Amino acid sequence: MRYLSTRGSAPELGFGDVLLAGLADDGGLYVPAEWPSIDTGSAGDYAALTASVLAPYVAPEIGGDELLGLCVDSYAGFRHPEVAPLVQIDDEQWLLELFHGPTLAFKDMALQLVGRMFDLLLERRDERITIVGATSGDTGSAAIEGVRGCERVQIVILYPEGRTSEVQRRQMTTVDAPNVHTLAVDGTFDDCQDLVKAMFADRSFRESQRLSAVNSINWARIVAQTAYHASAADRMGEIDVCVPTGNFGNVLAGWIARHTGADIGRLIVASNANDILTRFITDRDMSTAPVVGTLSPSMDIQVSSNFERLLFEMNDRDGARTADDLLRFRATGRLDTDPDAFDRWIAPVFDAASVSDDETLAEVARVYRDTGLLIDPHTATGTVAARRLLGDRPMVTLATAHPAKFPDAVERATGVRPELPDELADLYERSERLTRVSNDLGEVEALISRLCPV
Ligand SMILES: *Cc1c(COP(=O)(O)O)cnc(C)c1O
Repeated sequence: MRYLSTRGSAPELGFGDVLLAGLADDGGLYVPAEWPSIDTGSAGDYAALTASVLAPYVAPEIGGDELLGLCVDSYAGFRHPEVAPLVQIDDEQWLLELFHGPTLAFKDMALQLVGRMFDLLLERRDERITIVGATSGDTGSAAIEGVRGCERVQIVILYPEGRTSEVQRRQMTTVDAPNVHTLAVDGTFDDCQDLVKAMFADRSFRESQRLSAVNSINWARIVAQTAYHASAADRMGEIDVCVPTGNFGNVLAGWIARHTGADIGRLIVASNANDILTRFITDRDMSTAPVVGTLSPSMDIQVSSNFERLLFEMNDRDGARTADDLLRFRATGRLDTDPDAFDRWIAPVFDAASVSDDETLAEVARVYRDTGLLIDPHTATGTVAARRLLGDRPMVTLATAHPAKFPDAVERATGVRPELPDELADLYERSERLTRVSNDLGEVEALISRLCPV
């Protein structure tokens, strides 16, 4: 498979280069040159299904047997034998539980596999890289767990000191692996992200450290996520899927599954108070507003970077036009989309709802009362939106985090404090390893050069 940039002026690349590059040279995101038909294989387990779905996207660089080996290895450590089980919560609604991986959020579904792909391709190319990322919570730990064993990868995660939950921080700082480095930055999440952007913009640092990224615009993450959408549709027959989202990553994965032939009717976007995607889908209004803190912090996002991949399709794959649209969006805070393209690509497929913190808490309480299940606040935004927009088909809501990852909100709603799974039961006793840094590019770069030999 060859890949094109959504902004039309970066070189076409194969899968391996796309994986290692993350962002395209022209600032765009890589998408496949053509969409293959989805093939979920013949009734294998989750690892076999994922290998079958991903095969056309990674060929010829990763062969079928090699890919199957990576998938088997990636999901072997999940706590549930089905990896992503479906759990019925009422007559029409199911949860697709995506939180049985090592860090208790859906990001493990992709990052366990992506880490192993990095390892394989770097070994083959005899190269080393330094992955640098900023996290407000879930991505950092999932990325660390994905690459902790990789000999050719050093990973540095910057997080805002005192601004993540204790579970989230400990999941990063208690990993005892020589290639893992967590930096507690004296600043906010935006400061962390600005430091990362500045490091990537510093060409000599970027090249000497061989910097790479695993944020949610990485194509390999998106394509790995299409597998569970397809798997749910395979098991259930035609479904609607509801996705709690901020960055549009998980919904885009569902759209790709649907576009390539999975039996998915509608895709429902669930937002919290940061409702830019809901305003777009219901009113064609894509305009940014200040970020508001909510009980579902992993969805507290105002610029949904992965939307660019769908915009490229809405623009008939015209990269120059997509680049223009995004420049104007950055300048004005408003994205104008063509009404005809909206009617063709968005209206028939997507629906959306925004859910407040009060509704989220009431939903966590209601689901517990009716089913005995504890759900996390992100998942709860999904089940509220799902019920509001229920149609003729069974509705599957993606359960994006384990309730014990957000114990305070769950306890506030239900009076019950969810317990960590056995493997993490001693998380609060493990010793932490972190380096404090000030919000200073020179200091951070010097530290990374010292910590990460390449
Ligand atoms: C990352 C995350 C989300 C949002 O994912 P998108 O990439 O924005 O679709 C939702 N819930 C949880 C628990 C997350 O960690």
